Amino acid sequence: MENTERHIEVWNNCLHIIEQIVEPQQFATWFKPIRPYSLKDSTLTVEVPSDFFREYLETAFLDVIKMTLKRELGTDAKLVYMLRPVQGKADMRFPISNPTPPVNKTVQVSSYQPAANPGPFVYPGLHRIQINPRLNPAYSFANFVTGDCNKMARTAGDNIAAAPGKTPFNPLFIFGGPGLGKTHLAQAIGLAIKEKHPDLVVLYVTGNEFKIQYMDAVNVHNKLTDFLAFYSKIDVLIVDDIQDLLGAGSQSAFFNVFNHLHQNGKQLVFTSDRAPVDLQNFEARLLSRFKWGLSVELTHPDYETRLEMLKARCFRDGVKMGDDVLEYLASHVRSNFRELEGALISVIAHATLAHKENSVDLAVQITEKLVGEEKVDISIDKIQRSVCEYFNVSRTDMHSKSRKRQIVQARQIAMYLSRKLISNCSLSTIGSEIGGKDHATVLHACNTVNDLMATDKVFRRYVTDIEATLTPSQH
Ligand code: ADP
Ligand code: MG
Repeated sequence: MENTERHIEVWNNCLHIIEQIVEPQQFATWFKPIRPYSLKDSTLTVEVPSDFFREYLETAFLDVIKMTLKRELGTDAKLVYMLRPVQGKADMRFPISNPTPPVNKTVQVSSYQPAANPGPFVYPGLHRIQINPRLNPAYSFANFVTGDCNKMARTAGDNIAAAPGKTPFNPLFIFGGPGLGKTHLAQAIGLAIKEKHPDLVVLYVTGNEFKIQYMDAVNVHNKLTDFLAFYSKIDVLIVDDIQDLLGAGSQSAFFNVFNHLHQNGKQLVFTSDRAPVDLQNFEARLLSRFKWGLSVELTHPDYETRLEMLKARCFRDGVKMGDDVLEYLASHVRSNFRELEGALISVIAHATLAHKENSVDLAVQITEKLVGEEKVDISIDKIQRSVCEYFNVSRTDMHSKSRKRQIVQARQIAMYLSRKLISNCSLSTIGSEIGGKDHATVLHACNTVNDLMATDKVFRRYVTDIEATLTPSQH
């Protein structure tokens, strides 16, 4: 059957499904620019604007794309990418592999020395701006282990480092719970930029430091103009823990700085312990700015990633440790990288002090103290029980095909939490244990919950409440 329009129809059907699954902003950014090109047997060829675009699609949306294509074209479905020749107006800007050569620039700001001991924040005089970027070399990309929990943020970070200010990820807003690597990643981006573009002025500052500096400039020195001038000379501004940037005055100064830098194509990277929607006491105009770029969440590392991190850490520190010890730690300390690092360091310290072997016994002793009730195993059954209890629905209803809102919600949250809290649990296992649903249904549920959590505070509360009952030690 020859039908020249089939590829368009197939791709439109795919888009229709994808639109239900991914966030609207992501859909607009990553799917709208794709053009269907041809369809031969079950091979669909599409045009994408750049190679980076393709890479990103594959990193961030592989599951979704696979699932939809299979639905449309059957199990033999294949997707082939073709680079669209660059001409006419592009839908978005992409990093260029060879950015404009850095010019040796001389930046002038009026002289201002705050107090005797200048510390890291020297407002430079009339000479080339040279500030300490305040980056810790240990927080490099080389030391950053990548897994599902941080892949998307890492990809964005790599792209930013290659072409700061020239990617769609501006600002990059990284959020997530404690110890998941926000500071490390933000610093790694800064370090990589410094390495590739030594002439760019990079500054790492915490939300709290910015606030204190601002108040100091205003109340003590009456030098708000200089303060703003200083910040306006920065090429890459990294603000860690931006949730601490409270207070009307400092937010409005920050708003000013943000606009200036963004308009001038400078790169902004922020981290926060919560999603933009949950930043209470933040000015709406500032929050809307955060949405211009990419918000990405760091989630809990899975077993493989935890183990890899421990191995990398031992290698880096030149410590020899048995695989059995590392495997024990990786399977018992699940909360975050910081705790994992802490446990490892304790084991090393105890072994050294007591001249003992780095044995599993030692690891057992140490993790028992460290993780307490977290050792309680979480199972699909336990998750379903908690969710049913919370929503007051029966297990039979949860496993049924009922479309009642309450039941659908409970079902989807149970699938989402199973995926999130149980390491190495496949989508099909989760599906089969919730009334025989297929892998695509589970994936769809997980994405729906993710989307709702980003947009609906009440819903987010439900999920975090249930999660808290399941993982008491992490909350
Ligand atoms: P957060 O800022 O989210 O609280 P940090 O960035 O301070 O977390 O990370 C806590 C510790 O875990 C740091 O020592 C950091 O180096 C380490 N860490 C975090 N993420 C990773 C990772 N992906 N790979 C290796 N180490 C990591
Ligand atoms: Mg931090």
